[in-house]
This record gives sequence, C-alpha cells and structure tokens, in this order.
Amino acid sequence: LDPTTNGYNPEELDLEKRLRPLSFDDFAGQDQVLENLKVFVAAANQRGEALDHTLFHGPPGLGKTTLANILANELEVGIKITSGPVLDKPGDLAGLLTNLDERDVLFIDEIHRLSPIVEEYLYSAMEDFKIDIMIESGPNARTVQINLNPFTLIGATTRSGLLTAPMRARFGISSRLQYYTTELLTTIVERSSSILKMPISLDAAIEIAGRSRGTPRIANALLRRVRDFAQIKGNGTIDLEIARYALKALNVDAHGLDEMDNKILLTIINKFKGGPVGLSTLATAVSESSETIEEVYEPFLIQEGFIMRTPRGREVTDKAYKHLGKINTNIQGG
Ligand code: ATP
Repeated sequence: LDPTTNGYNPEELDLEKRLRPLSFDDFAGQDQVLENLKVFVAAANQRGEALDHTLFHGPPGLGKTTLANILANELEVGIKITSGPVLDKPGDLAGLLTNLDERDVLFIDEIHRLSPIVEEYLYSAMEDFKIDIMIESGPNARTVQINLNPFTLIGATTRSGLLTAPMRARFGISSRLQYYTTELLTTIVERSSSILKMPISLDAAIEIAGRSRGTPRIANALLRRVRDFAQIKGNGTIDLEIARYALKALNVDAHGLDEMDNKILLTIINKFKGGPVGLSTLATAVSESSETIEEVYEPFLIQEGFIMRTPRGREVTDKAYKHLGKINTNIQGG
C-alpha cells in the first residue's frame, strides 16, 4: 500500500479533500455542537490559551475529522493527525508531542484503539503538559521529564463505550455528532456539486441525500458516482432521471441502508420472529460486537423507525418488514 494514500485512489482522496468544509461557516448541521464550539474557540482565542481537550464521538463519516481541522483553522494553529492503532509505542507519541507548537492541535482518530501504555503516557501530557522520556540506553538509561507546549488534544471515536473512564475524564469538551436529516444532506450535496462544477437539480439532490444513511461521506461518495453516470450516459448535468438510473445501477438501497443494516433487520425477522431479542444474542447472530451494533448501526435504524428498543430487547417495526418485502406474521387478527 502507498502509505500516503492508504490504498485509496489518490484522485478520490483529492476530491474528498476539496469537498471538506474548512470553517464553521462551511459546515452544515450539528447546530448545538457548533454553537458551543464557537463559544469555546472564541474564549480560547481571546485568552490566547489552548482550547480544552475535545472529544468527538458518533458513527463514521459524520464529520469528526472535518471538525478537528476546522477547529485548528478557527484557532489559527497547526494540526498533526494520527490515529490510535498507528501509535504503537510511547516513543511514537513523544515524537509528535514534542513537535507541537503552542496551542497546536493533535488529532487522534480512533482514540479508543490506543494501547494501554500509550494511553497512560498520554495522561500526564494532557493534564500537566509534561512527559517523561527515556534517554540513553543500557546501564545509563534514565528518564527525564520535559515540558510540552500547551496543546489541544482532539480525540475521535465511533465507539465511546470503549473509552476508559480516566481517558474520558480528561476531555473538557465532549460532543456527540448526530445523523444528518435529508434536508441538510441536500444542501451538502448541492455545495459539493458546485465545487465539482456539476449542475444538479433540486429533486436529484434530494434523491441522493435520502439514500445516504444520514451520512455526509456517503452523500459525497454517491454524488461522485452519479456524476460519472451523468457524464457518460447523460447530458453532463444531474437530473432526477439520471440520479435514479445511477443509484439503481449502483444497487443503493432505497433508504440508504447498508449490508449490515439489512442483515440486522433480516436476522431479527428470520431468526427471532421480529424480536424482541437481546443485544448480545443479536450481536452473536450477525457476528458483530455488541458495542458496534449499539453505537454504529442501531442509532440510525432507530432514528429511521426500523427498530424499536423495548425493555425486553430489540424489535423490528412494520416499516422493516415492508422494506425487506416480508410479511409480518406476528400481527394477529389484523
Ligand atoms: P470517520 O470517523 O469515519 O473518519 P468522520 O466523522 O471523521 O469519519 P469526516 O472524514 O470528517 O468524517 O467527513 C467525511 C466527509 O464528509 C468529508 O470529506 C466532508 O467533506 C464531508 N462532511 C462531513 N461533515 C460535513 C458537513 N457538516 N458539511 C459538509 N460536508 C461534510
């Protein structure tokens, strides 16, 4: 794999970068989160201090990395980006920390995947802006404490349930990102098409938005694919007809559900008679962890009314039966 692109097509990566909002004003949605962040940033800027350590949690593709970059822009500081699984040893982290300028942002994606030693090492850096580093080796080896510039750690996680309590306690600001409404995603699709210089009709933008699982990353990815169809099979603009044609060819679910969403619904219907079924039983049946189901898949399925959470477990709704073309045999006398 090319380490700079991680195996992704560089052209796609470049597009993804161009579509990324750079300031609070470009960023659509998450109003409550944004309103608070604006206050915290303005206050930190006024005092000339580093912003408090900030945690973003929520399902993938909702804008955690984007917000980290925006915060650095709005604080007018540099940002260094890494991720939990990449930081193998405390030494890797020390290298990053000692290179931060005053007030800089260190962004750690997938922070729940830090190894326990690296995590522990981070604590004193976050709390006192001090770290111990080992100098020399063999019999002369000793540790010295060095001072760091005050910095802001921004952590992102899709699985806040897996963060340790001491880690969580060290974030002064913690925000949960929510799925986007179709209306918001429509404005994101329109903004992206104008950056891509591809005209799009409103009804086509709504169609793409509605099938994006509440997720800007998916909306942008679908838009790029639909754009290909418009260019090759259409007349170079995206209208409803070409959008529908493309989405059908791409096999995109009418509600934007992905494979695992559908697997969860089908499993509850086929194996558990529509539920209720307990979370851990369901997790075993679909071979996924309980935390991932609870934090990544279920929130969208509940929001869209496919699943209900009852005291006895998860149940699918009529909407789920209809969506999958199944008959609800539990309805009696109806
Ligand atoms: P992951 O946790 O999977 O890395 P993420 O939550 O960090 O995902 P981002 O990479 O920030 O998600 O966002 C994915 C893409 O969606 C970005 O390229 C960006 O262009 C777009 N995007 C995210 N949020 C918004 C928004 N509010 N307005 C416009 N575009 C957005």
